[in-house]
Amino acid sequence: MTAVLIVGGGPVGLMTALGLARAGVPVTVLEAEDDIVYSPRAISYAWPILAGLNHFGVLDDMIAAGHTIDERCWRIFKTGETIVYNHDAVRDVTDRPYNLTLGQDLLAKVVLQHLKRYTDVTIHWGTKFTGLTQTSSNVVVTAERAGAPVECVADWVVAADGGRSAVRKAVGLTMDGFTWPQRFVVTNIYFDFEKYGWNSGYLVDPIYGAVVYKINLDGLWRFTFAEDTTNPLETVSERIPEFINTVLPGDKKYELALHTAYNMHQRTAATYRVGRVLLAGDAAHITNPTSGFGLMGGIYDSFALSEALAAVVHEKAGDEILDRYSESRRKIYLEVTSPISTESLRLVFHSGDQDRLNKDLALLRNRKNDPEAMRKFLSVPAALETPSLITGRTLAHRAAA
Ligand SMILES: Cc1cc2nc3c(=O)[nH]c(=O)nc-3n(C[C@H](O)[C@H](O)[C@H](O)COP(=O)(O)OP(=O)(O)OC[C@H]3O[C@@H](n4cnc5c(N)ncnc54)[C@H](O)[C@@H]3O)c2cc1C
Repeated sequence: MTAVLIVGGGPVGLMTALGLARAGVPVTVLEAEDDIVYSPRAISYAWPILAGLNHFGVLDDMIAAGHTIDERCWRIFKTGETIVYNHDAVRDVTDRPYNLTLGQDLLAKVVLQHLKRYTDVTIHWGTKFTGLTQTSSNVVVTAERAGAPVECVADWVVAADGGRSAVRKAVGLTMDGFTWPQRFVVTNIYFDFEKYGWNSGYLVDPIYGAVVYKINLDGLWRFTFAEDTTNPLETVSERIPEFINTVLPGDKKYELALHTAYNMHQRTAATYRVGRVLLAGDAAHITNPTSGFGLMGGIYDSFALSEALAAVVHEKAGDEILDRYSESRRKIYLEVTSPISTESLRLVFHSGDQDRLNKDLALLRNRKNDPEAMRKFLSVPAALETPSLITGRTLAHRAAA
């Protein structure tokens, strides 16, 4: 019997476990794989979320494991124009005017190290959730480990098992929304972008649009482009050289370290709470990753959920707080995460309407000369946060207190 059982030892599951452990709640995590999974997905976290990571005690180790960046650019493929933003406009509102760059597997590893300090946290690797039944007083979870059935009983279950969440399906929820007719082709490449004046950011073009991001200080960059899903998935590797060779500057001598492809969706579950089961991260909502809001949204789920659930476990709040968790996080997905990510995708990958592009670029250029507009723009990711469901305070305010 455990107070909280978390299904999924990805970044959101582990971060939720840490929040609960810090609040003195016994936690068990079931993870299907034998270790933290490497997948070339989230790498960028905007400055507003750093206050929360600091509050959880993990920020310094994350910065040590990754790197910070001040600048981000929009490069227009056809004209070569480059619009570069830095964090100057938020220097007076934060001590951390930069984005953190860190692969999500490395982020999860930092969290795992911190979890080892808590004796009331148990992680069962290689254990795949298979089903659950719940009553008004607990949840019985079934799983499979090394081919043998396992059973766990918990007061509460958190589904943090990703976009294909088996827990979400087990409680009868579907993901409503749509799937884009394009897929993202993700490549990790060695290429000296900085030699040619490229920063981390976006290449804007209706055909050659891409997200270009420095992964680490060893010369490895993420280069992600989009293609129609009508192209056969099996032959994606054959299309990579042509695409990259068309857009790379200079000698174009790059080394492909890895590639993969993802379908993109704007989808969310109808509720993030069914009785004693709570949804968080990609299990609850998925977005195209152009703005890098997917995992940030999931981490903000962890912050809000772990605090609210700990209060319920310690009988300091009634369980209706968990309904408020669901309502708040879903509203933020629908009103912030999804529309902003959709707008970013439109600008970077679907800029075929020249009038619209001219307006978009004028806005990007003008903002550079307007510190207040720039501050507002750089602060948009702060809207992904649900202030404490107990005190109403944001993590930035709690850190400052
Ligand atoms: C190309 C790309 C780039 C991205 N870039 C960014 C970015 O820069 N910034 C950002 O914020 N977001 C980004 N995202 C989104 C981000 O990757 C996801 O939002 C994030 O992985 C969600 O984390 P999670 O822990 O909810 O789910 P996952 O990372 O999917 O983890 C789920 C875990 O559950 C486990 N699991 C699954 N099924 C079971 C089961 N039955 N039993 C037990 N365990 C199970 C899995 O093995 C896994 O470890 C990007 C996504 C893509 C595709």
